[in-house]
Amino acid sequence: MIPGPKIIRLTGESFPFCTKVHVNLTPSITPEQAHFIGGEFTKHCEKLFEGCPVDPRDEMNINLILAPAGIPVPPGHYFLIIKPSDITLASETYEGLLYAWQTLKQHLYNTAYFTETGTDIECLQIADWPSFPWRGLHLDVSRHFFDYKFVRRYLDWMAAFKLNKFHWHLSDDQGWRIESKRFPLLHEQGAWRTEADGSSYGGYYTQRQIKLVLKHAEERGIEVIPEIDVPGHAMAILAAYPDLACFPQEFQTLSVWGISEDILCAGKDSVIDFLKDLFTEVAELFPGQYIHLGGDEAPKARWKECPHCQQRIAGQNLANAGELQSWLVQTLAQHLQGLGKTVIGWDEILDGNIDSQPVVMAWRGDGIAAARKAHDNGNRYIICPNSKLYFDWKYLADKNLPGAHGVTTLQDVYHLDLAQYRFQNKKLFLGGQANLWTEHVPDSRTAKDLLGWRIYALSELFWSDPQTKDYSEFWERIWAMREIF
Ligand SMILES: [Zn+2]
Repeated sequence: MIPGPKIIRLTGESFPFCTKVHVNLTPSITPEQAHFIGGEFTKHCEKLFEGCPVDPRDEMNINLILAPAGIPVPPGHYFLIIKPSDITLASETYEGLLYAWQTLKQHLYNTAYFTETGTDIECLQIADWPSFPWRGLHLDVSRHFFDYKFVRRYLDWMAAFKLNKFHWHLSDDQGWRIESKRFPLLHEQGAWRTEADGSSYGGYYTQRQIKLVLKHAEERGIEVIPEIDVPGHAMAILAAYPDLACFPQEFQTLSVWGISEDILCAGKDSVIDFLKDLFTEVAELFPGQYIHLGGDEAPKARWKECPHCQQRIAGQNLANAGELQSWLVQTLAQHLQGLGKTVIGWDEILDGNIDSQPVVMAWRGDGIAAARKAHDNGNRYIICPNSKLYFDWKYLADKNLPGAHGVTTLQDVYHLDLAQYRFQNKKLFLGGQANLWTEHVPDSRTAKDLLGWRIYALSELFWSDPQTKDYSEFWERIWAMREIF
């Protein structure tokens, strides 16, 4: 199983499987939740046991229990108990029930594959829970666009390995990707770019499609974190609304990769008003706790020349353009906090003076210095070190394989030592995620190839106990996974 459960005991008995299922529910499970888990169960059982001889008198009992455990348990905790008479999935939370189901699914597939004699499955008792609350996966849909149906498949892969935070990178220099009712030029113009050969490339998600993705995520216990990257990586925004720049001119959504010198002006009040309105719309659309406002790779050349920015620096008693970015982050963070949201930013947001409210994503290099800096400033942090958890990097040093920038092997991900990121206040370390930037990922097949087996190691990294790490044993479990992913 992946991720490996914390406590597992095989009882030596077997459970006679059949396709006639009776699901017993506790009243706290909503019809939607029961429908989803029951539907998943039926779908996979039909696939697995198609054609198996079944005694029509047999009926299989599955108990879904959503109720207090009666003992103190960590968040996300679940029990999975398979006895000769019935199967019980129990948790205090819906997420925990989903984890129990994912574990059962893997057990069924493993058993179905390895047993030749029939449909009996091994009885067992599992008590399991995640080591970290944040187990994420990111997808950049700006550099290349992936339609909402692919995004739902992406969520399915995440759910299969108990990943629970989907970081959706929705804007960048190369494309704006969501329908905006308040600022429609963002999707009408900013979603499209002209490629070198003259063709038009782009796309965006309608608000209806976003709601379909959100429903899909919620059913699977996944929170969606939208990222609108500001004040840098904003050429698609400037292409739609050029007055938001320090020095307005006709801007184009970029068709090349890199970092643009043109960024949003932080001096003009009209820009601040625009951003507050925009983030309000995003906050209304996405029901989750977190909103990511980027903050990475924002060159300050324009701000140094801009009279509005200089006036803001003087008026707010700021030391330089670096502190102006902190002021902007702080202003937007306070606005979003007023809407009940928590802000996340890339680790550059620590370069000036920010308070301890925003959550920091430590990405530069190995991420240790940024994690330490966040910790010492009292900020919660999530790690996604560029050198270890960027899945756009190749998984093997072979020029024929997809990926760019560097090589991060399955072993690199599996052996990442999380103790390096743990300091005095352990609660500030929320967990981690892998990022899939898509400059060199043109299609869904390449995206899946790059996730590959590294998604297993990612899942294990933030769920399982590091003390039990054993790469050869992990490798054996990977082989048992190939029916599922
Ligand atoms: Zn300016």
